[in-house]
Amino acid sequence: MSGKIDSVISKLIKQEIKRERETINLIASENYVSKQVLAAVGSVLTNKYAEGYPFRRYYDGCENIDKLETVAIERLKRLFGAEHANVQPHAGSQANMAVYLAVLKPGDVILGMDLAAGGHLTHGTKINFSGMLFNPFYYGVNRETEQLDYDEILKIAQKTKPKLILCGASAYPRIIDFKRFSEIARNVGAYLCADIAHIAGLVATGLHPSPVEFAEFVTGTTHKTLRGPRGGFILCRKNFAQCIDRAVFPGIQGGPLMHVIAGKAVAFKEAMSKKFNLYQKKVIENSLLMAFGLMEAGYRLVTGGTDNHLILVDLRNKHVTGEEAQKILGSIGITVNKNVIPFDPHPPNITSGIRLGTAAITTRGMGKNEIAKILEFINEAIYNRNNVSELNAMKRRVRRFASQFPIYAE
Ligand SMILES: *Cc1c(COP(=O)(O)O)cnc(C)c1O
Repeated sequence: MSGKIDSVISKLIKQEIKRERETINLIASENYVSKQVLAAVGSVLTNKYAEGYPFRRYYDGCENIDKLETVAIERLKRLFGAEHANVQPHAGSQANMAVYLAVLKPGDVILGMDLAAGGHLTHGTKINFSGMLFNPFYYGVNRETEQLDYDEILKIAQKTKPKLILCGASAYPRIIDFKRFSEIARNVGAYLCADIAHIAGLVATGLHPSPVEFAEFVTGTTHKTLRGPRGGFILCRKNFAQCIDRAVFPGIQGGPLMHVIAGKAVAFKEAMSKKFNLYQKKVIENSLLMAFGLMEAGYRLVTGGTDNHLILVDLRNKHVTGEEAQKILGSIGITVNKNVIPFDPHPPNITSGIRLGTAAITTRGMGKNEIAKILEFINEAIYNRNNVSELNAMKRRVRRFASQFPIYAE
């Protein structure tokens, strides 16, 4: 077999390599995997069908696959101190879906964080399977503090009597108190599922409290702060092992993506290293530096700051919408995403805010000086938002700056 990819696709891959190198990525849910993870994901393991679980497969020829998935499971269990782990969910959404299938019947009440307050689509949004198949109720954040209000969540739980409570978020810059959530769940006789998709890397390194001892189920993604390949995982207690495994396969998925599971295993090992621990500390350090810098420049941050890898900026006092800011910054090569802020007067396609994250730039080795530079770029771009020639000049400066931080140095 020839090793060359056809010209259409190889050209697009090259262009993507260039884009990643020449832009500054502040998307809070993205990161850059190691070359080792890339190699595992690009391996022949993609050829193999392995429906089932290690040493209980529906296909022959799984002797290597069985060992590999076992290693992935054992590493994941060790990383989070969990009793049972499933590494097969294709993504975070499938991990959540499997938990619901394991313990819920269609029509059951679930209680999750409102998408508009920072929750995730799969936590009961009406346009997602979770809101179509189940009966969703939501909690948000306190209007004053913009943080979770546990007394209020308890009241909502007592009123709605959910069978499952979801905690975890996509755009929440503060620590989540999983213990409080477990007390609320126990109070109303609900299961608790903690979705740590965004903060998995922080939890793995002890920089965010772990939900493992408090929640029956912990779901997450491997590709955000955990810096592995695109994928999902589930942790649970031993007594739920069988129903979780059955819910993933044959419940919602067929054959597992063994090449991705290999990439996950590589990433789990990386995540146990001292180097990764230092990396996560720097992610938070950079996030704090960015938060202070933004506030100094007159930006209002939702909740007034951050405890983790992400920052939600309220742009209303800058007289620019989230949509506009995303476009302006995108035009100079700084990638961010527009995001609703709590009680946002604008609809989700416009928004009053942007979400910034430091996981990706920290992987590239950026620190204090670079954060200062990036803030300068952001300020200048927003100030010059109607000046096309200035924005064009800035795009070149951003390209030069970003190119000094190669992602996959030869
Ligand atoms: C990103 C995310 C997910 C899952 O996302 P996928 O794109 O399906 O991998 C689930 N929950 C939360 C809170 C997330 O932020």
